[in-house]
Amino acid sequence: MSERREILQHLCDDLEARLARYRAHQRRSLDKDSREQAGEVQNDEVVEALDQEAREELAQARHALARLEAGEGEVCERCGETIDPRRLAALPYTTRCLHCADT
Ligand SMILES: [Zn+2]
Repeated sequence: MSERREILQHLCDDLEARLARYRAHQRRSLDKDSREQAGEVQNDEVVEALDQEAREELAQARHALARLEAGEGEVCERCGETIDPRRLAALPYTTRCLHCADT
């Protein structure tokens, strides 16, 4: 499953690049005087939400990568069953089987 490792590594790099862009946007916003402009504030909120989402995704991708490197990448962290390879292919960052993902 070294292919999945590459996918996860790439995902981490990608998310880190995205987070760097969001941080740059947030710094620019702080410098602005015209923050009361509705469009600008709304945009900031969107970026803030995306930033939060990317942070969580990155944490999950790193977590999955760590489990993969520990030799547990294909095992559900909750019930210990093998995760369906099709699920891993579709969601490389998942660490739970289909059954446990919903609970
Ligand atoms: Zn499970």
